Amino acid sequence: MGSQPDRAPYVGRFAPSPTGPLHAGSLVAALASWLDARVHQGRWLVRIEDVDTPRFVPGADSLILQQLAACGLVPDEAPVYQSQRGALYQQALDQLVTDGLAYPCACSRQDIERALENLGHPRHRHGELVYPGTCRNGLNGRAARAWRFAVGPSRDVLHWHDQWLGEQTQDVAQEVGDFVLRRADGYWAYQLAVVVDDAAQGVTDVVRGEDLANNTARQILLQWALGLPTPRYLHTPLVLGANGEKLSKQNGATALDLTQPLQALAAAGRVLGIPDDQHAATAADWLRHALPHWASISRRCIKPAD
Ligand code: GLU
Repeated sequence: MGSQPDRAPYVGRFAPSPTGPLHAGSLVAALASWLDARVHQGRWLVRIEDVDTPRFVPGADSLILQQLAACGLVPDEAPVYQSQRGALYQQALDQLVTDGLAYPCACSRQDIERALENLGHPRHRHGELVYPGTCRNGLNGRAARAWRFAVGPSRDVLHWHDQWLGEQTQDVAQEVGDFVLRRADGYWAYQLAVVVDDAAQGVTDVVRGEDLANNTARQILLQWALGLPTPRYLHTPLVLGANGEKLSKQNGATALDLTQPLQALAAAGRVLGIPDDQHAATAADWLRHALPHWASISRRCIKPAD
């Protein structure tokens, strides 16, 4: 389905949000995307996803880049910053509006909760509300707050292929609803920014953590709506914290120790099934050791599309 032709030159990327330093979980995604790019003789980019400015921690971007560099993961081009790319996101939103695929929304969270209650089915998805489509047919004199993507009925059940997880399905209309493209506070939503940037940067392969897998269907719908190519997707296993939940900055994951890159790489490698290399003296040695392992893991584990 809609993947890049095999001959498109491989471009991979790691796209951290600068909400804190890298931790053991985020290094797994960074390492896998770097290894996959190198195994495919591709380019590897880093994009700083700082659209969500209120969550942006000053200095986290340069710390992340230093941590990556300490692990030998150096991008092939200067990193791009989403906060500087608003014009591209506006262009994409304008195109969707012109095509009747995006509309302004006046609803607050409370309005949405009330509308869902009135419908008798308060539908929650991981604590997120499924938008009932109140403003689809106009604002009825209320002031616009956000912009939403109109999920079409003919495109509602989406099937996509993940190179690690296999076949995936999501009924976007039922499970997500018309999702936000530009937020009420004026910031660009992750879904729109990531789709515009992956296409603008020629990304052919998205390798990222499994916690992001359920955004993929929304992103594919946006790619279709904007006439953009769909990259291949590979979602890597998550690192679990002591409480059994996904390790994240929010549940207290500690920052990677810049002085111990070999330990950090070994731990990330274990999650991906790469054995440690006791003889590696530097991060570069360890990565050289890991490349053939990733190549063979790819051959054994990676599920090609039918
Ligand atoms: N910025 C997102 C995050 O750090 C990742 C986006 C992506 O890889 O698509 O969770």
